[in-house]
Amino acid sequence: MSQKLVLASNNAKKAFEMQTLLAPLGLEIILQAQLGVGEAEEPHFTFIENALAKARHAAAATGLPAIADDSGLCVAALGGAPGVHSARFAGEPKSDERNNQFLLEQLSNVPESERDAWYYCCLVLVRHAGDPCPMIADGQWHGFILDTPRGGGGFGYDPLFWLPEPGKSAAELDPAHKNALSHRGTAMRQLLERLREQPLLSKE
Ligand code: IMP
Repeated sequence: MSQKLVLASNNAKKAFEMQTLLAPLGLEIILQAQLGVGEAEEPHFTFIENALAKARHAAAATGLPAIADDSGLCVAALGGAPGVHSARFAGEPKSDERNNQFLLEQLSNVPESERDAWYYCCLVLVRHAGDPCPMIADGQWHGFILDTPRGGGGFGYDPLFWLPEPGKSAAELDPAHKNALSHRGTAMRQLLERLREQPLLSKE
């Protein structure tokens, strides 16, 4: 029998990706919206706090173990911004195109040698809402911000995220290649390793 795990997100693509990875461990992903759970507030300054808040909210509302992720882009020359505000860097309504344009404006006077940046992803799994020892995994992906977009794949800031090795923007990578290198792929592999060592127990 499989153990149900609520995903604290309404992103069906994320759910599909996680389901594929977690199915061999006997875990079945359910989107929180399928259980009538709305999105949690994300008021915090750090990815880990937001991911934890989302996972706790979903576990409290459903009584099931829950998993959440929070991710974004951090630019060194901007003191780590946009960070947790990545999705809405250029304001409401959220738009990848306007975010990329705004990022280019913010970096217009920053030379190539100082345009380093990294994506960060934090994944948190709580066995129940009061879990004192959440399972936490994270990943970083380092690159540089281009001065013009390249490539049509990926999403978000990928057309501006340059990787000296393999010499492509993240939007020029095929999905499997991106997953092998990315912050999210690294965090997911780390979480899977933890789950293999320490299989999920239902609340006791
Ligand atoms: P979320 O955590 O998936 O909601 O991502 C938050 C925001 O961070 C996204 O809306 C993007 O702006 C940015 N982001 C996170 N991961 C990526 C990525 O892999 N590529 C491009 N942008 C990303």
